[in-house]
Amino acid sequence: MKRLLPLLLGASVALPLPAFADSTVPVAESRQPVTILVSIDGFRADYLDRGITPNLSALAAHGISAAMRPSFPSKTFPNHWTLVTGKVPDHHGIVANRFEDPARPGEVFTMASDDPFWWNAAEPIWVTAEKAGIRTATMFWPGSNVAWGGQREKREWSETTGGTRPSDWQQYNQAVTPVQRVSAVIDWMRRPAATRPKLVTLYFDQVDTAGHHYGPVDPHTDEAIADADRDIGLLVEGLRELGQPANLVIVADHGMAATSSERVIALDKLTDPKLYDVGDTGPFATITPAKGKDAKVAAALLKPHDHMQCWRKQDIPARLRYGTNPRIAPYFCLAKTGWEIAKTAPKEAKSGGSHGYDNAAPEMAALFVATGPAFRPAGKLAAFDNVDVAPLLRDLLGLPQASDGDGNDTPFGPVLTAK
Ligand code: AMP
Ligand code: ZN
Ligand code: ZN
Repeated sequence: MKRLLPLLLGASVALPLPAFADSTVPVAESRQPVTILVSIDGFRADYLDRGITPNLSALAAHGISAAMRPSFPSKTFPNHWTLVTGKVPDHHGIVANRFEDPARPGEVFTMASDDPFWWNAAEPIWVTAEKAGIRTATMFWPGSNVAWGGQREKREWSETTGGTRPSDWQQYNQAVTPVQRVSAVIDWMRRPAATRPKLVTLYFDQVDTAGHHYGPVDPHTDEAIADADRDIGLLVEGLRELGQPANLVIVADHGMAATSSERVIALDKLTDPKLYDVGDTGPFATITPAKGKDAKVAAALLKPHDHMQCWRKQDIPARLRYGTNPRIAPYFCLAKTGWEIAKTAPKEAKSGGSHGYDNAAPEMAALFVATGPAFRPAGKLAAFDNVDVAPLLRDLLGLPQASDGDGNDTPFGPVLTAK
């Protein structure tokens, strides 16, 4: 595989044209590069240093790599939406994997919510591209099944008016195997130029699942990492066989920290659970005091704790760039990395992994590898924030930069071959 990469991804993208140019012989089509954004959920940045990822390591060697900082909170949906919108969760509105909105009392956003109401605050790159006449296709990505910008007429129905989706998209289904996902992308690349997508997303969940079950340092997790690397190898090989040049941007949404039932903060030990309502628990907890109980909740939460810190949402430290969105609950508690917040103490011994912690924690750093004709082989870059990925994608697609983004393409200025 290593030997073949320069052919596919090198700057000149030499395609194997026939040796003779005779009008009776069809000349191989000169393909334009496709941009493929791949997410390997929960692929911690340092997994790349374990010596078990020959394909990803070869891609990094031919392009660029970095330990990328996720946005806060380091959860799946907020960060996938950041990667494609260029905005932090506080601004794009997907503030957690599960949250409520005062404008929709009684409703809860979950990972299954596809009502555009929840998603409409920030435009994803595939919508920007489609509006500019650039065809897109998504082989899974949080939010890619949403008719973005549309409106759901009746909340209990799934019918939506208006809105833009990728030209091709798939309803998320964890049972679709990684090989099927890669095959779907390669099949899109077999199409004639007019219907072949120019921006593709591809998503793999297995490394995150293993990380939660077994923790970041475990042979099972290594197995999932090695499997994901083989899936990347299949993608590269399929593109090579088609002579399809590609700018690959391979990312993760966050890393993974080891957790244990011996590192749990039980909320019911701090104050009477009748005084508040708990939304999320885990690496962070979101808390809404019951009516008239604010002072008591504040007294219990805002004092110093050994392994967690709580704030009123407006007092969350500025570096986390979180706390102004109405969807964030009034009180927010963040556990020390590796600790978890629960409603009650665990009843049985357990260990595994989790994420959602401080986005500056090294354990939360995420994979970033990019290579293809648009990139110089510049090696390892300094860490950057994942709000910078959407600006990079805009450069790769020839789209103008957004005026209201939270990031920029500065980290990539020296490594892009041409703008
Ligand atoms: P987290 O709880 O933050 O670890 O979320 C990871 C989980 O999100 C994975 O196990 C996936 O199965 C799930 N997931 C990823 N993409 C989607 C999607 N588009 N729709 C629903 N669930 C998803
Ligand atoms: Zn994730
Ligand atoms: Zn996860």
